[in-house]
Amino acid sequence: MAQLARPCIIFARPMPKFFIKTYGCQMNERDSEQVAHSLMARGYERAVREDEADVVLLNACSVRDMADQKALGKMGMLGRIAKERPHVVFGFLGCMAQARGESLLKNLPHVDLVVGTQKFHRVADYVEELVAWKRDRVTEIVDPGYSRMDDPRFSIVDVAEEAGSQETIREQQLAPRQATAFVSIMQGCNMHCTFCIVPQTRGAERSRSIDEVVREVRDLVARGVKEVTLLGQIVNLYGRHGIPKIDNKSPFVQLLEAVHRIDGLKRLRFTSPHPIGFRDDLINALARLPKLAEHVHIPLQSGSNKILKAMHRAYTAEKYIDLVHRIRQTRKGIAITTDIIVGFPGETESDYKLTRDLVEQIQFDNAFVFRYSPRRDTPAAEMEEQVEEPIKEERNQDLLRVVDESARRAGERLVGRDLEVLCEGRSKTNPARLMGRTRTNKIVVFEGDDKLAGEIFEVRIQQANGFSLYGTPVLPTSRAASSDRA
Ligand code: SF4
Repeated sequence: MAQLARPCIIFARPMPKFFIKTYGCQMNERDSEQVAHSLMARGYERAVREDEADVVLLNACSVRDMADQKALGKMGMLGRIAKERPHVVFGFLGCMAQARGESLLKNLPHVDLVVGTQKFHRVADYVEELVAWKRDRVTEIVDPGYSRMDDPRFSIVDVAEEAGSQETIREQQLAPRQATAFVSIMQGCNMHCTFCIVPQTRGAERSRSIDEVVREVRDLVARGVKEVTLLGQIVNLYGRHGIPKIDNKSPFVQLLEAVHRIDGLKRLRFTSPHPIGFRDDLINALARLPKLAEHVHIPLQSGSNKILKAMHRAYTAEKYIDLVHRIRQTRKGIAITTDIIVGFPGETESDYKLTRDLVEQIQFDNAFVFRYSPRRDTPAAEMEEQVEEPIKEERNQDLLRVVDESARRAGERLVGRDLEVLCEGRSKTNPARLMGRTRTNKIVVFEGDDKLAGEIFEVRIQQANGFSLYGTPVLPTSRAASSDRA
């Protein structure tokens, strides 16, 4: 290792700044917020851009190949910052870190930290250790021959399991006037769908207690939150291994009831449920609990029973259709969205047609369509009859056209109506306007003052496309249960 003679003068600021970027779903976002909270609790500041941060963390999902590749590409590009600002700490967090572990250090020598899904609560400790270690060693002039890999202590890798880690995702920073929040109620999944890496990256199902979740939601509501989304990989199977049924109600329905009782909470959502856990008690809850918003996201994955079986999804297309029918009967006007995979191994043209027909029949409000991508160490990756990429792409584009059409129709049905909207603040795509969501989770864009952020009021819908609604605020109201139900 090169001799570094001069003392560090880079840390003139009282506390370092951190930048955290998330590639993935709401669960990944929620995990990132927990890490941000723990760093801010120690006095770290959040940086707006990575090139002004002293700690750069990438939290990446590994369910889809795209997030994985994006995060790797991003970290590769950050190597430039590592050269210019050698005191900066770089880390990977989350599912991808869990799946790849120490191997992430091999081709990216500037990476200092790899922390898996059961250790988010340790990130602040590790970051502090690395920041201090570098502060003691890095000078303004760095020997070009210097290698971070010379000293093994420069890297920290922790992807071990930890009992009780599901209880550690429980605090978050709120922005001024923030009125929506995600609450993680469980970690892991025991379902072992053959395409999915989650059971490996998140471990077995572990649920928080009802009391703990209620405590967190109550605290959020006291700080101004009006809408909470309960998160879990199979959210409706929450608590099934530790919390007994009461009056034939599943632990998840018991939790919904307990959260629903919190005064001041206006809207309650959950994602993502598994079709097999959507039983009568949950459908009844949709009818009984008015704070439950009129939107459910129910992953379909395929319309072919042969493919569903190969995916290890324990339902049939007929059962899925029946479930959607019962939900729509229970809650009129409820929005239903889904996830679909095209090009799963063995999917023939007629299997794909069954999926397409089912999507046409159900008329989802929206759907995420994914091309199947093999994930390491999953059964589907080893299956014969892998579908060629051009065929996957063709089916993907074709199905997107069907979904876009039904999403467009769903939006157009709302033109001319006054809908309850919870304003979330400035639109990210058009900061001159505000955006909010209806109870059916549709994005509404409108003109207005920043003071409307965090408020619930009605917006008259004047225009719709497949992605968003556009309108004008008409009626400030504090009503909790008014909705855009038909
Ligand atoms: S239910 Fe299946 S797809 Fe969903 S997280 Fe579990 S294994 Fe993955």
